[in-house]
Amino acid sequence: MFMSQLPTGEQKLNLSRSHALYQEAQQLMPGGVNSPVRAFRGVGGDPVFLERAEGPYLYDVDGNRYLDFVQSWGPMILGFGFPDVLDAVMDASKRGFTFGAPTQAESELARLVIDSVPSVEMIRFVNSGTEATMSALRVARAYTGRSKIVKFSGCYHGHADMLLVQAGSGVATLGLPDSPGVPRETTVNTLTVPYNDIEAIKQVFSTYPDEIAAVIVEPIAANMGLVLPVPGFLEGLREVTASYGSLLIFDEVMTGFRVALGGMQERVGITPDLTCFGKIIGGGLPVGAYGGRREIMQVVAPLGPMYQAGTLSGNPLAMAAGVATLKELRKPGQYERLEHKSQLLGDGITRVLHDTGADAQFVRLGAMFCLYFTREPIHNYADVKQADTARFASYFWSMLERGYYLPPSQYESCFLSLAQEDAQLEETVKAVESILRQQA
Ligand code: PMP
Repeated sequence: MFMSQLPTGEQKLNLSRSHALYQEAQQLMPGGVNSPVRAFRGVGGDPVFLERAEGPYLYDVDGNRYLDFVQSWGPMILGFGFPDVLDAVMDASKRGFTFGAPTQAESELARLVIDSVPSVEMIRFVNSGTEATMSALRVARAYTGRSKIVKFSGCYHGHADMLLVQAGSGVATLGLPDSPGVPRETTVNTLTVPYNDIEAIKQVFSTYPDEIAAVIVEPIAANMGLVLPVPGFLEGLREVTASYGSLLIFDEVMTGFRVALGGMQERVGITPDLTCFGKIIGGGLPVGAYGGRREIMQVVAPLGPMYQAGTLSGNPLAMAAGVATLKELRKPGQYERLEHKSQLLGDGITRVLHDTGADAQFVRLGAMFCLYFTREPIHNYADVKQADTARFASYFWSMLERGYYLPPSQYESCFLSLAQEDAQLEETVKAVESILRQQA
């Protein structure tokens, strides 16, 4: 059994009920969890069991309160219990949980996404990001008649067999180069190249000029911490894929509606052929989606021959939460407000790193950020793997002790929300500073 590894002298946090619940959960579910990173293996301790949340705060089963920088890994951009979202879900739930038949709410959410992201002319809702990327790649293969796909090492696109190759996120935390149970035959068509390496992409295309259906990329790589695309990288992908008749898929499951209303594609002014969504578009309920050019999306059944389906797809509660969330985000000034908060935190931490001389790298884009415990700048997965995960773990537990809930892994991005107040973020900077000074 794992004991939590709070730094010596700081074991003030009572997590006894969490520990007891975790003992039970481990008897019932592998690792006591339903998604690996939640087990806190990346920081060497027992997970915190949460009971409820409100606005920017999480409350655990022992009554501890935390300022939340995980936000259920991205969706809760408005904070918890946002009144319009809550009302919309309550109202939808009274009318029926699921029909497996068309509802107007699906068109409403589809229109909100399509109006926000110009590259998306048609969309299909699914239940998770995994389903979104898996299906988008099926579309790409159906549309191009080609088999190979290209991904980047350290990018995670969900747990479909063909994509569990040099993936980030939980796979990185657990140190699995791959996963047992994925037959070699399922990944032979998956080519992997380093992130930010446009020459590697050109080489792959010159080796397989007529065989690559699509390149799938996280336009900001947020499953190996937070790795930003170097200038020209995404532009290069657009050019190379277009010149070889291959599709460019932006996996904006994390970045969609987070770094801008129109996602990273809006920020960089690039038009992908297909885009994958998840997280925010479901307002915290299980939703994913893939969409793109009408001409391409027309291959999807029943309009076209490519099969993809889902009993709970377009679920009324999930659509209601998504519609209410996106309506709120589309109000003027929201992303400016979010950027102001993010910058406040970002500038603060940058100043702390400068003042303390800590061997750490701070990376931020919009309301996403990551603190890496390494001296060298980060451009790809190989750089990320140089980070000192033991120092990260110590930082994680110290932050938890002070009431800040961070992702329990060096390989995950942190998120800010509109519910966080400036004063809370200023306090966060102070907490980071005191920990880095102690570590020095
Ligand atoms: N793509 C990206 C970029 C992701 O970050 C994730 C999950 N964090 C997924 C796909 C998979 O989404 P899900 O966990 O909803 O299956």
